[in-house]
Amino acid sequence: MTYMRFKGIGVSPGIAIGEASLAEKVLFTAKKDIIGTDEVENEIKKLQSAILQTKKQLTHIKNQVKKKIGKDHSFIFEAHLMLLEDKSLCRDIEKIIKRERAKVEWAISRVHDKYVGIFDAIEDEYFKQRKSDVTDVLSKIYRNLKSIKQEKKDEDSESILVAHDLLPSEAAMKLGKGNVLAVALDAGGQTSHTAILARSLNIPAVVGLHEITQKVSNGDLLIVDGTDGEVIINPPLAIRKEFLSKKRKYDDYCRELKKTATLDSITLDKVRFYPMANIELPEEVKLATSMGAEGVGLFRSEFIYFQKSSLPEEEEHFRIYSQVAKDAFPSPVYIRTIDIGGEKNLPQLNIEKEANPALGLRAIRFSLQNKELLKVQVRAILRASTLKNVKILIPMITEIEEIEEVKMIISKAKNELRKEGRQFDENIPLGAMIEVPAAAALTDIIIKEVDYISIGTNDLIQYYLAVDRSNELVSYLFKPLHPSVLRLIRFVIKTVQKENKEVTVCGEMAADPLSALALLGLGLRKFSMNPIFIPRIKQTLRSVEHKKIEEIVQNALTFKTAQHIEEYLLEQILVKYPKAFLMGKNN
Ligand code: PEP
Ligand code: MG
Repeated sequence: MTYMRFKGIGVSPGIAIGEASLAEKVLFTAKKDIIGTDEVENEIKKLQSAILQTKKQLTHIKNQVKKKIGKDHSFIFEAHLMLLEDKSLCRDIEKIIKRERAKVEWAISRVHDKYVGIFDAIEDEYFKQRKSDVTDVLSKIYRNLKSIKQEKKDEDSESILVAHDLLPSEAAMKLGKGNVLAVALDAGGQTSHTAILARSLNIPAVVGLHEITQKVSNGDLLIVDGTDGEVIINPPLAIRKEFLSKKRKYDDYCRELKKTATLDSITLDKVRFYPMANIELPEEVKLATSMGAEGVGLFRSEFIYFQKSSLPEEEEHFRIYSQVAKDAFPSPVYIRTIDIGGEKNLPQLNIEKEANPALGLRAIRFSLQNKELLKVQVRAILRASTLKNVKILIPMITEIEEIEEVKMIISKAKNELRKEGRQFDENIPLGAMIEVPAAAALTDIIIKEVDYISIGTNDLIQYYLAVDRSNELVSYLFKPLHPSVLRLIRFVIKTVQKENKEVTVCGEMAADPLSALALLGLGLRKFSMNPIFIPRIKQTLRSVEHKKIEEIVQNALTFKTAQHIEEYLLEQILVKYPKAFLMGKNN
């Protein structure tokens, strides 16, 4: 019962204390058992009945997940069923059985190695996901051959799930059961399927722990701190007490904060602000609303593509957008056209790898080179706009011509829909994301072409300060409170407001209390963020007087460095409004 502590990446906040349950891992055999020619047929029969059983199980899981977590998480099982239907995977296994006169277990192991090798060579994040799908399906067939029990007897008791990595179907199935207190993984990152799912389901999760599966045994007592990204194995009493109290404080804090959901979004001096949600999955709308979101300020529609092995069709887009619009009604929903290309590759499209993906064929650039794809999306957004609460948002605008092209596509789509006699919002608002500094400098011209502006600070800061937003080596330079960044944002906000149009911020900056106050002081009223941060920001903004914050921020802008600005803001705000940071700046 050795006591150990591990640092990883906290991808879903909160603290859980409980017993470890290690996910069972299928190890494909390395032993080649040779069979007689007369046994070949029997081996193939074994394979076919394992495949049949796998199909049945997958269909059952798909229906269960659809019922318990939502239709969008069940896509993954459709993809797996398609892999089985596709036959080439199964034919490959059969071929090896026949050609090498080997047992089916060995044949599966060889096919698995082959596919893993192919995917590894491609070295692409999204292809890697497809690799895990193949592993997932083959493991299920393998398990069915060997009749390894799918779950342990105590599958319903509460525990902390520890695994090397979770295959997408495992994540949906295990987390959907409601008995997982927290998740700790060797592998993974912020945008992994498990991380997104854990956040949607409010389950604390730490990933990127490297070797946690080798250090933990079933039944070990674990603490998972998803807020600070730490996992503690067999903590002594004093540590347990410390974390129990931290957990209590955190839970009280969340409960307390959640109460703000029903309170008005106004500052002490009655200035109205609007907290909105950034979502990736349609079923997040309900959680977001319960957290106090007044609409969806950013729907990252590319996630519809990530969950499928084929290209989603117009009807599927339409179904998802209509659902989001209905769930958020009467609040607005800003649907961003897909932001893929560059690093966010799609296996369905086979996009070429680029030397500088962040500066490459991304977002609207990609969509304008794949206009048919964009039109499908635009038609679906238009069709979902009948409640008149839907807006179109275009990512990564760099020049006016891009907006003009998009407008032409929208106009064409509208004409088609009119001819087809379909309903849509004739005045659906069109917005541009300001993420490229060149577009920020052009705000006065861009705003005349669109109905509103959404500032994507994640990319804007990356491109303005020349700091890769996902590179740990330079993360210390990624400073939302950099004087240049604040000046640029001030320019964008003021320019839009001069035209009496709407401006929102939908980058992570809006979710940080101090930065959100800086934005309030710069004139911002619409803040869009990951829903779990909405109560905290609402509490912060409700605790201050807008007039005073405006003065403080104006003074802060006279300082030369981000550090001075941060220190000044913190000091001034803490003295005047101690309630603004209920649990400190970063909690
Ligand atoms: C942004 O860049 O700030 C943004 C919200 O878009 P994403 O994080 O999806 O790039
Ligand atoms: Mg962006």
